[in-house]
Amino acid sequence: MAGQPPTARQKTERGHDHAEAFCVMKYRCGNCGTEERIWNSRDGVTPFIVSCSRCRTGRMEHVDWQYDSYEPDHIPRKGERMFVDTPESLRLPLTRMSIVMISRNMGETPDLDEKRVREIADHNYRKGSPYIVEA
Ligand SMILES: [Zn+2]
Repeated sequence: MAGQPPTARQKTERGHDHAEAFCVMKYRCGNCGTEERIWNSRDGVTPFIVSCSRCRTGRMEHVDWQYDSYEPDHIPRKGERMFVDTPESLRLPLTRMSIVMISRNMGETPDLDEKRVREIADHNYRKGSPYIVEA
């Protein structure tokens, strides 16, 4: 627009950086068919796939995008899952956990060198990366 400084990033119609900001989104499990509504509590990215809260082994995909519901004042119910920014205090423990799990699956001894863990954490958990919590 004339007279306004250019923005580094295009904002959505609602003035956010991400289309899914503060939206309640439907996810469906490809294994057991369970559907779940998950709220994005912030103006951040969300994963297309999450693990199923019911059967635990299934993968839930974000479906029916056109019905994503913009609810910035959403009040989660007890037990409802929602996306938050990955807490800083969990970046290193989550990285160590995934290194141990992957190493075990490959029959290898986990390499938990601190420098390596930090490099992987910086890559996997950038600022604002999504994390799922239960209310
Ligand atoms: Zn399932």
